[in-house]
Formats: sequence, structure tokens, C-alpha cells
Amino acid sequence: MRTKKNREQVPKDVAARVLFYSDRTCCVCRVRGKPVQIHHIDEDPSKSDIRDLAVLCFECHRETQIRGGFDRKLDAEQVILYRDDWNRLIARNRAAEEVEGGRESHGSIDVEYSTTIAEIYREGQHYDLLSIHYNAIGNKELRDKYIAIAIERKPSDDTIIFLRGLQSRPDLIPKEVIKREYKRKTGQKNWLQRARMLSNLGRHREAAADYFRGIKASLNKNEIFSAAYYLKELSQSHLIEELFVLALKQEQADGDLWWQVRSLQELGWYSELNALLKQNENYIRESGDLHLLELLALSNGDHSAWLEIQKEIAMHDVSSGEDGEITQ
Ligand SMILES: [Zn+2]
Repeated sequence: MRTKKNREQVPKDVAARVLFYSDRTCCVCRVRGKPVQIHHIDEDPSKSDIRDLAVLCFECHRETQIRGGFDRKLDAEQVILYRDDWNRLIARNRAAEEVEGGRESHGSIDVEYSTTIAEIYREGQHYDLLSIHYNAIGNKELRDKYIAIAIERKPSDDTIIFLRGLQSRPDLIPKEVIKREYKRKTGQKNWLQRARMLSNLGRHREAAADYFRGIKASLNKNEIFSAAYYLKELSQSHLIEELFVLALKQEQADGDLWWQVRSLQELGWYSELNALLKQNENYIRESGDLHLLELLALSNGDHSAWLEIQKEIAMHDVSSGEDGEITQ
């Protein structure tokens, strides 16, 4: 069998490393517990450089062999993207587990385990994974050291954008790198990868639009797992919070007090909310807006005023019905 032969040609230590990076899980479908094999991305079994290898299950491997209208369903470039993304996720989760596990057991990170993992990445010269590892365990100095080394080695545009995103320094990404990568992802119609990139660049509004475009495309293609996966990723990202921040800025520019209040509530920024109410105290009293008056009373800790307003709101509801406008 072709696949068996390929696998045997990968030296054992390289195979072990590749399997470790991907946690013995197919980097495309990411379904745990499926039998996997080591795939030669450029189809040259004589090459066993770690960068030419990816862990795939048998079904996903088959997808790399199928040729569609113009190209195969899963080309080399896509496999590399899936693999790099998956390896990063594993590195992050491993380090996060380490931090949590350490907290539970002895109140600190298990140094020995952490060092072992870092050593494996270092031996494999996987400086991007090392940076992720140190970022996740909160060592920013070592994170930045390995990001510098990784970038010196001229990694892919995608990796540069990812690593600068990890540092929250999108300003350090050369403009042409962003341009090239944006064009490439657009050409592939890879909206979800483009969404992640834009999110790393702080272009939140465009990122949100791309997430939905990608999720919708997945649903249309009946790729339910992908749709669910990216919805989960979106809900766990900072994107929603960032959109409320954008909304807040917009309302500040428009001078709309009520929607500034609503954005601050959704963000959970209560000290900013109280400051805003205080600042606009006169305006609120003059406007007679019951909802704003209610919040102002709460913010001032004025219980009797708050009770008065409750009575007024109740009266108002009775007299005007549910659809009634709020007027004095
Ligand atoms: Zn798979």
C-alpha cells in the first residue's frame, strides 16, 4: 500500500515529532481518535523534512487525491494552512492545560513538564510553536525572543501575521506581507482564514463579515462540523467585544447617550458607565427619559429616587400600553 510505504520512509524520530505537534489528530477534520497517517504534502516520499509532512486521517488524505473541476479538493497550500493552524491550537491548549493543571495541583506551572514541551519544540526548530507556548504560560520575554528568531528565518506571510498578532503588534507587519496574504486568501475564497487574519490585524468589522461569509459557505456545502467549529471560535474570540467597542465609538461620535449606555452595559464596563451618567446628569434630568433616570438613580445609589421612577414607569405602562412612546 502506498500510504504504508510512505510512512515507513519517514524516520521514526521525525514521525514521532510530527505526531506530537498535531496530537495524533488529523489536522483537517480534527476528529479525535481516528486512525491517522503521515502525509507528504508535496507528494515526494523521499523528503522527510518536518515542513513537508502533515498528519491526516484516511478520509482527508483521500481528499488530497481527488481532482475537482480545476484543482484537487484539498491542495498542498490548504493542507499547510490547516496543519499550521492546528499545530498552533494544540500548542496553545497544551500550555493552557499546563497552567490550569498547575494551578490546581501545586499553585504553579509544572516546570518540568513545561520545559519538556518547550524542548521538543526547540529541537524541531518550531519557533512559532515555542512563541505560542510561552505566550500561553505568560512568559512574554521568551515569547518575543522566539518570535524574533522565527521571523528572522523568513516564515510564510501567514506565520508573520499570526506571530505579530500574538504580540498585539500588527503595526510591525510589512504592508506588502498583508497585501500578499490578503490577495492569496481572497483567491482561495478562504473566508475563514481571512477572518482570522483580519482579526489579528485589528480589522474587526471586516473579520466579522468574513466569519459569517465563511460559516454560510460551510453550511451551504453541508460542512456542518466546520460551521459549528468556526461559530464556536467566533463566540470565544474577542471579536464580539471589539464590535461593541466600535459601536461605542460610533455612538460617541454621534453623541447618542442611550446607545453609549447600552454598549457600555454589554461590555460590562460599569465604572465607565457610571462616569458617563454622572457627566450627563443635567442632560438626563432635563430629558426626563425614565430609563436613563433609572440608571442615574442606581448609579448614585439613590434608592428613593429609583422607587419614584419605578412608580412612574408602571403608571406610564398602564396609561400608554406596551407600545407607548416614552415621553413626559
Ligand atoms: Zn481528517
